[in-house]
Amino acid sequence: MDIERIMNDLEKKHPGEMEYHQAVREVLESIEEVYDENPQFESAGILDRVIEPDRIFTFKVPWADDNGNVQVNLGYRVQFNNAIGPYKGGLRFHPSVNLSILKFLGFEQVFKNSLTTLPMGGGKGGSDFNPKGKSNAEIMRFCQSFMLELWQFIGPDTDVPAGDIGVGGREIGFLYGMYKKLKREHTGVLTGKGINWGGSLIRPEATGFGAVYFVKEMLTSKGESIDGKTFALSGFGNVAWGAATKINQLGGKVLTISGPDGYIYDPDGISGEKIEYMLELRASNEDIVKPYSYEFPGAKFFQGKRPWEVKCDIALPCATENELGKEDAQNLINNGCTCVAEGANMPSTPEAIEMFQEAKVLFAPGKAVNAGGVATSGLEMSQNAMKLGWPSEEVDERLHHIMISIHETCMEHGREDDGYVNYVKGANIAGFLKVANAMLDQGVI
Ligand code: NDP
Repeated sequence: MDIERIMNDLEKKHPGEMEYHQAVREVLESIEEVYDENPQFESAGILDRVIEPDRIFTFKVPWADDNGNVQVNLGYRVQFNNAIGPYKGGLRFHPSVNLSILKFLGFEQVFKNSLTTLPMGGGKGGSDFNPKGKSNAEIMRFCQSFMLELWQFIGPDTDVPAGDIGVGGREIGFLYGMYKKLKREHTGVLTGKGINWGGSLIRPEATGFGAVYFVKEMLTSKGESIDGKTFALSGFGNVAWGAATKINQLGGKVLTISGPDGYIYDPDGISGEKIEYMLELRASNEDIVKPYSYEFPGAKFFQGKRPWEVKCDIALPCATENELGKEDAQNLINNGCTCVAEGANMPSTPEAIEMFQEAKVLFAPGKAVNAGGVATSGLEMSQNAMKLGWPSEEVDERLHHIMISIHETCMEHGREDDGYVNYVKGANIAGFLKVANAMLDQGVI
């Protein structure tokens, strides 16, 4: 495999799209050996095809704010690869959204979905709309306008969007309402739906729960458990909330959460009503996690800082991409952190990952650790197709089994000669092989 040739071509075709380039390079470096051992991939041009999205839709989203002023945002849907199932992946509403971010997320999603054992291709979408400070009515009008364009590109067997940053149950409700009206059908076209109208139990918790199940397997492989361990978490959104809930259930202690403005350190542990308060904080659309320290006086707020300077056993970045760099990695290693699992997508920079691996810290990438979210979306699709709903115990058990299976797959493909498991390599190889073989079977299309 000529990685530099492929990267040069990609950079020429998609100039300046750093996040996209970063995600592709990581996968290429991990799969190089396996790819070269299978010349049939090269003859079928698999790499050149798998790194390009199948298609991208871009559209304008006009809407009126509460003062009657017209606002215009950009909307996107990137349909990346449907070799193993309909396109599947979330929608992100955040001012930072652009095509580089969505291509990186869509590319990652292809391999993540492949790891889940469920038949789902990969896609991603969203808008540069900023939900912060917007009223409910403004969010509804925006979602309705967004769906007025998106509906023609999606469908329960074509492309099934879900939530991501800035898109939770409320937004999925508004989007689904408009889709239903336009299409005149009640199908599983979005996941993350409300429980009374086709949603699955455990879906809101699934990404965080799945991440902690994965950590449990990583620790078990070393003869350890979550009980009594301390955790540093970043973010305070959906993933951080689910992870904090499950960590507490398994006897761990959550010391931090964070927002773009800084982090909260709570030495008493973030549990019980404090976890409920995270939901309130998130729903408030406020910028800061600072109110937490007023509400719970034992906690301290560190303005402009990241939680990776806190002494902890396990770090779980659950906020956003590239939020954990070289210095953060050094702090964690110096403070005796032994396990880092990515709840968010690509939160660690390549330099940070290299440092964890060199220090033999257990390190697992987002596409394995946070795959429980999309896996449970897959379970929601199955329930919709069968027109029934499973009890929460059943969904949770299936989620748990899927996470155990992803962990085993990573071990199988990522174990190195000295016994250290390179989870990045394991996840990328396993995710890639399934997609590449499906593409081979289906011919050049
Ligand atoms: P949410 O919008 O619910 O939460 C994201 C959180 O991160 C918010 O608390 C946000 O604060 C905070 N945040 C944003 N930027 C920063 C920053 N620079 N530093 C610290 N905190 C920051 O999103 P999710 O929890 O759904 O998603 C979090 C991550 O998990 C993303 O990478 C997403 O792609 C990934 N993911 C999500 C899945 C899901 O099921 N929801 C599934 C798989 C992956 P603020 O709102 O103030 O910006």
